[in-house]
Amino acid sequence: MTARADRTALRWGGATHVGRVRTLNEDHFVARPDENLWVVADGMGGHNGGEIASEIASETVGRAFVHRSIDGLIEAVETANAAVYDAGVEDPELTGMGTTVVALAVVDHEAAEVLAIANVGDSRCYRYADGELDQVTTDHSLVAEMVREGSLSPEEAAVHPQRNIVTRVLGVHDDVPVDVFAVDPYPGDRYLLCSDGLFNEVPERGIASVLRTIADPNEAAEELVHRAIDGGGRDNITVVVVDVVEDGGRAADASGALAGDALGAAPRTGPEPSPAYARDEPSWGRLRRPSDTAELDRVELADDELVDEGRRGRRARHRAERPRARRVTWRVLLFVLLVVALVGGVVATIQWYGTSTYFVGFDGDQVAIFKGRPNGVLWIDPELVDVTGLARDEVPDARVADIEGGVEQGSLADARRYVANVTEQAEELAPPATTTTAPTTTLPTTTVPPATVAPA
Ligand code: MG
Repeated sequence: MTARADRTALRWGGATHVGRVRTLNEDHFVARPDENLWVVADGMGGHNGGEIASEIASETVGRAFVHRSIDGLIEAVETANAAVYDAGVEDPELTGMGTTVVALAVVDHEAAEVLAIANVGDSRCYRYADGELDQVTTDHSLVAEMVREGSLSPEEAAVHPQRNIVTRVLGVHDDVPVDVFAVDPYPGDRYLLCSDGLFNEVPERGIASVLRTIADPNEAAEELVHRAIDGGGRDNITVVVVDVVEDGGRAADASGALAGDALGAAPRTGPEPSPAYARDEPSWGRLRRPSDTAELDRVELADDELVDEGRRGRRARHRAERPRARRVTWRVLLFVLLVVALVGGVVATIQWYGTSTYFVGFDGDQVAIFKGRPNGVLWIDPELVDVTGLARDEVPDARVADIEGGVEQGSLADARRYVANVTEQAEELAPPATTTTAPTTTLPTTTVPPATVAPA
């Protein structure tokens, strides 16, 4: 049995759009149906660099793909890397330009035809089969690495402000690791190559919905682009849909094992991807596309406001709300925690302020010591600690007003000292004639007897 005599038949359609925000389309795609090769590239770099990089890369892959094998596709992508890199070296204005690339080709592998999919960066290949959409490629992006490390959920990654940072690109260095995946073609399976301008605007179930309902690949590609524009169109959008029409008899001959290994198999790669290299080398790993997150949020809100009914409106709102729900939950939780901490701190401070001091005041007609503030603080009333033996009418006139208002003291001992001081002053000021407690022993003998004699 050989499949060499048979040919995999594919049908395709593609579309690209500058989007609603950018003025340049830095995406580029190449279709070579006669050679069963499709390439999507998403360029980046100042001074038209992105536009040039994506075009050089995709056109070079098209020209350099001469060996119809998995290695041949890897070599074509490596050649494209060198071409972009050389162009950047030759023109100082283009230095540092780069591009993502995702390429799909039919290649010969172990006496059969398979689909080889190569990628560098965060442009993706999806497979739509049996009603399900699977991402075939692995993104080389900061958020994708965080998701793989478990520090970010896919939902968080979808709205992360740094989701446009790619960790591996074509053309920035003279060598690049290329991921390649081999998939068996089955009639009815659909493959989607796209730039991030699609999946950042259209949720995957929206993508799946289009692939499920629109059979013509050209119309499907155009509808996906329209949906991305409706979703905000904040980046360039490029979509290529490739349908497997005929697998050259493979399905009839395929064994169960063959059917099972397609996407479950580990990717066949070129040079081993080096995450440490990618992460630690800034000129390699931190290429940011020229997008302004604040601006994007504003556009997204404006878009929501624009559409208020119909499918488009529901879709746009759904897109805006679903990824944000988790973010709002975190914000609310954080806000509640902060409020609780703040309220707790305020309560503790008031409690401390209301009870950390003593004052001398009047309790009825008696001078007394209280704990707290003279008029209380909110819910904290002063607490009576001690009633002194000093009566209001014994207090020197100059001190009455002070004590009426409450004389604050830092401690109970200070308060007692203050009372002793007032008592002492009261005793010094008290005229002997008004003294009722007869402190001396001589006076009573001379004054009292005549008073007692008179009535008699
Ligand atoms: Mg893009």
